[in-house]
Amino acid sequence: MNRWSEIAKKNILTLSKNKNNFNLALKEWTFSGNIYDHKVAEEICELCENENLRYHFEIYNGLGNRLLVGSSCINRFDITVFDKEGIEVTENKESYLKKALNEKLIEDIFFQLKSSNKTGKLKRLKKTTANKVLLKGGVEVII
Ligand SMILES: [Zn+2]
Repeated sequence: MNRWSEIAKKNILTLSKNKNNFNLALKEWTFSGNIYDHKVAEEICELCENENLRYHFEIYNGLGNRLLVGSSCINRFDITVFDKEGIEVTENKESYLKKALNEKLIEDIFFQLKSSNKTGKLKRLKKTTANKVLLKGGVEVII
């Protein structure tokens, strides 16, 4: 077992129902869908204690415990992920999480523009369809 796994094991067993079996303990945890952008890369993964993270992905278990982790830990330890329709993501978790992060960042941009009331900018950043956003300069982002 590598160093990340040893640290993760220690951290997760204390918060899981299963106190002895790392693999079974990992199965108790699910990605909540919440992603946090800290703007600067100085956060720590609460699972493997990897440093310099800008984004935190929240995972939770049935005991009501929550951990803020890096997306690579969700992949590495195969934490359960459900999409917005409630369907489990079993393949390409990494690309699903990247897409979810993009979506969150775009939502943040809209929120900032709305709250700063810069209507001129809002016009240039209009939503084209349900899953596409047109950025300034004609760049289309699929979310
Ligand atoms: Zn980690």
